[in-house]
Amino acid sequence: MRKPLLAGNWKMNCTIAESQELVRQLRDQIGARDDRDVLVAPTYPALALVAKELEGSGYLLAAQDLYWEDSGAYTGEVSGPMIAAAGCSHVIIGHSERRQYFGETEETVSKKTQSALRHGLGPIVCVGETLDQREAGDTLAVIERQVRGGLDGLGSEEIGRLVLAYEPVWAIGTGKVATPEQAEEVHAAIRGLVAKLADDATAEQCRILYGGSVKPDNVDVLMSEPDIDGALVGGASLKAADFARIVAFQS
Ligand code: PEP
Repeated sequence: MRKPLLAGNWKMNCTIAESQELVRQLRDQIGARDDRDVLVAPTYPALALVAKELEGSGYLLAAQDLYWEDSGAYTGEVSGPMIAAAGCSHVIIGHSERRQYFGETEETVSKKTQSALRHGLGPIVCVGETLDQREAGDTLAVIERQVRGGLDGLGSEEIGRLVLAYEPVWAIGTGKVATPEQAEEVHAAIRGLVAKLADDATAEQCRILYGGSVKPDNVDVLMSEPDIDGALVGGASLKAADFARIVAFQS
């Protein structure tokens, strides 16, 4: 009942011309899919052109971040209205690389999430524990703190417009993937938390993506888990054939 969502986070990769080439290859290799949502998240400079390239494909477009103010003296930042005007339907918020390198906190994730919702963008809110936190047995507590922090102050209707992404930090870009059981345990806990913060119906419809070294050879088994509704893919989303195979997962 939840439509799978396969999302490619291109991170700080591809010039405008390379983005155009990649999206053309993706359209060729993925084709039309009604049974699953396909999303790409290029860099800011490439958004408008990629939006044009995606016309008629049904694929979704996301930015990789946003700032919570709409405009003004915030050098280097990009706002929700700008992203929406470039053709985005979604925006990634709180990616672990932003938390790790750019000082993202639960408070900034919350402000960004509220701004995205105000501008009609679907936030893809990322959460995930570090290896130390997992080894200390703190995974579920960390995830709960991040989800509660990011969703602070939101009502059920707003929570219903979110996508959540569970991305264990130790699995991002490392080639180490969570086992389906490890991922499912956290996804089920997140869904339970969404039920508490919103209600059962919202939790049932909320898409929770797994991210962390998703590849063609592990996507099928991950997508077989009942609470894994899609994937947020970094490295493998830059290779059209790999991402096409991930989109074509079979569970
Ligand atoms: C990501 O960027 O969100 C990610 C999960 O990266 P990778 O697939 O490369 O681990």
